[in-house]
Amino acid sequence: MACGTLKLPGGGFAVVCGLPKPKPCCYCGKASTKLCDFPLTGGKAGSTCDRPMCHRCTTHIEPDTDYCFPHAQEMKRRRG
Ligand SMILES: [Zn+2]
Ligand SMILES: [Zn+2]
Repeated sequence: MACGTLKLPGGGFAVVCGLPKPKPCCYCGKASTKLCDFPLTGGKAGSTCDRPMCHRCTTHIEPDTDYCFPHAQEMKRRRG
């Protein structure tokens, strides 16, 4: 979880935890709303790609699954 400091108008600081800013979309840099759901294999088995993307750059395939571009291609290949 990301923690950061927030500068207050009065000159003080507040520590902000639990409200991480959305990561920028890895393709266009806008605030991401989706993460790639592609299940990784090998050393990272059990986790997902998690590449951040905005809703315009994601590839939506399953009813509730989003993939980055290379992983969307990979899933299409696997499905034949
Ligand atoms: Zn984008
Ligand atoms: Zn991916």
